[in-house]
Amino acid sequence: MNFIQSFRMSCAREAKKLHARIVKTKGSWHSDNSSILSLYTNLNLFHDSILLFRSLRSPPPLAWSSIIKCYTFHGFFHHSFSSFSQMRALGIRPNRHVFPSLLKACALLKDFYLGQSLHACILRLGFDFDLYTANALMNMYSKFHGLGGCAGKVLDGLSERGRANCSTMAVVTMNIDNVRKVFDRMPVRDVVSWSTVIAGNAQNGMYEEALALVREMAGAHLKPDAYTLSSILPIFAEHADLIKGKEIHGYAIRNGLDADVFIGSSLIDMYAKCTRVEYSLRSFYLLPKRDAISWNSIIAGSVQNGKFDQGLMFFRQMLKDKVKPMHVSFSSVIPACAHLTALSLGKQIHGYIIRIGFDDNKFIASSLMDMYAKCGNIKMARYIFDKIEANDMVSWTAIIMGCAMHGHALDAVSFFQQMLMDGVEPNYVAFMAVLTACSHAGLVDEAWKYFYSMEQEFGITPGLEHYAAVADLLGRAGRLEEAYDFICKMRVQPTGSVWSTLLAACRAHKNVELAEKVLDKIILVDPENIGAYILMSNIYSSAQRWKDASKLRTYMRKKGLKKTPACSWIEVGNKVHTFTAGDKSHPYYDKINEALYVLLKQMEKEGYVLDTSEALHDVDEEHKRDLLLTHSERLAIAFGIISTPAGTTIRVIKNIRVCVDCHTAIKFIAKIVSREIIVRDNSRFHHFKNGSCSCGDYW
Ligand code: ZN
Ligand code: ZN
Repeated sequence: MNFIQSFRMSCAREAKKLHARIVKTKGSWHSDNSSILSLYTNLNLFHDSILLFRSLRSPPPLAWSSIIKCYTFHGFFHHSFSSFSQMRALGIRPNRHVFPSLLKACALLKDFYLGQSLHACILRLGFDFDLYTANALMNMYSKFHGLGGCAGKVLDGLSERGRANCSTMAVVTMNIDNVRKVFDRMPVRDVVSWSTVIAGNAQNGMYEEALALVREMAGAHLKPDAYTLSSILPIFAEHADLIKGKEIHGYAIRNGLDADVFIGSSLIDMYAKCTRVEYSLRSFYLLPKRDAISWNSIIAGSVQNGKFDQGLMFFRQMLKDKVKPMHVSFSSVIPACAHLTALSLGKQIHGYIIRIGFDDNKFIASSLMDMYAKCGNIKMARYIFDKIEANDMVSWTAIIMGCAMHGHALDAVSFFQQMLMDGVEPNYVAFMAVLTACSHAGLVDEAWKYFYSMEQEFGITPGLEHYAAVADLLGRAGRLEEAYDFICKMRVQPTGSVWSTLLAACRAHKNVELAEKVLDKIILVDPENIGAYILMSNIYSSAQRWKDASKLRTYMRKKGLKKTPACSWIEVGNKVHTFTAGDKSHPYYDKINEALYVLLKQMEKEGYVLDTSEALHDVDEEHKRDLLLTHSERLAIAFGIISTPAGTTIRVIKNIRVCVDCHTAIKFIAKIVSREIIVRDNSRFHHFKNGSCSCGDYW
């Protein structure tokens, strides 16, 4: 039992003793009993308060205000109002303590009309000039729309009254107007009044108004307190206004408010949104006490700024500090695992989520699905999806995207159809997912159908991703000219990467003339696109136009353009191992090399022939061979084979597309070692098993 509790208990004992003495010595006097009642309600003694109140023959205003407060505090809002009605029926004039409790009850009941009629009553009785009542009124109005869905509820009420055309925005404005009206009529305002009106504006996105009020507040010689500051800091975060945010931080330090846990968390958020995560860290470490909100702010801030490892580290520390995570903590931590493709950590977090009973939360389930899909475990993603009772757009989109990434195109399309049948409207991302699936499987007709329905049936304007998927699909299907025209007619400016997919298709279909036209387009929008130059030079090489190829390479060298090094990752024993092509730095390099050599011998026996068409042409055959055989994914796979138990799945991530030769080689390797090998490149997953790949050699 803590100090406050024991103090409260001893107070309650004393109050009861006092009560007993009054009853014994004087009989029951009104004023004494009302004071005891107010003591009881302040000590939250619900039953004692009710019993005492009921024993009073004609309770005075103080007793009424105490009992109303007591009912509101314990959540019996309707009792608060019925007591108020009884009191009015008896002709008792309410005192200034009555309305704040009733207004609070209105806000908690989310009953806008009750609140309005109470407001009318306050005006009639002249209590709008009372500081506490006016503050409570403003607080109620700002709660009405600060709470999600509340404006909608108000709106429903309005349409019942025949104001069907009123929009949600209008309701928000109306509430803010109400807050403002109360505020403007107040003869005296304290810090709470200012803070309430500022927070009300800020919470509803009216940042300029909120800031203007902060300036006015300073003009009225009132100092913002912790509550005011924590309502205005999100404004600067939203606008990524570092300078103003820092000013407020300085103010907080000067006034000794920076150690406040609310301000601390707001500062961490603000700095993170301004991409100054180092300042977030400093604010975090300077906090004398950390609660779930401050931990959550630093985790989210780290992840939002791409510092995934740091975010996960803070999450572990938070658990060590015995702080219970909130739902939102997981919406940062799970995507961090997905980005790092840290499957085993992701699994541990999933286990933890189940233990604390958060697994039925749809947002968490959807981000878990996304994490498993991105880490290569589509089976688990589907398992979680099947367990969700009523799927919403987020979970449908996650499963469709997962299937698309893994080349389960027909499943993706069928999930999309099921979603439509369930009456869930697809959004921008869902269309991206289904079009990607179509493009990976070469489903041209389906893709056209979805592409057109997007705008015509669902009113979603296609974005770059949708155009890119269709262009990619046409290119892969060999409809190169059609793809070229399609990209030229796009309603958004095509990026270098959209054109690059067509360039890749030109190489696959050996169309040098069109490739040259495409390269010109790429140079216009993205002159530093190294991948495009390399692709073009390979196209020249395979058409045996060596001169053009070497001209292009000289040009690249002159411009100082360098290839991004290819890189592969594999997670073994909770540690991520990174490999680059020809990398000799790994401690097991010799063993890896030996394993690759043994494998190669077996592969050649089974009919593997090295395909050097994708290697650079200006090196000799022997060197070409070495270069291909030490591509980063091969090193990672070989390391996986020698360091994990036989029969287990090997998961490798690569930062760029897998080359044709490695793709063939991995098919042989998977068969020889009898393992499933999953490789994720920059756009999709390849599941290699029994000598074939899930992509059907179409990637
Ligand atoms: Zn390769
Ligand atoms: Zn494949």
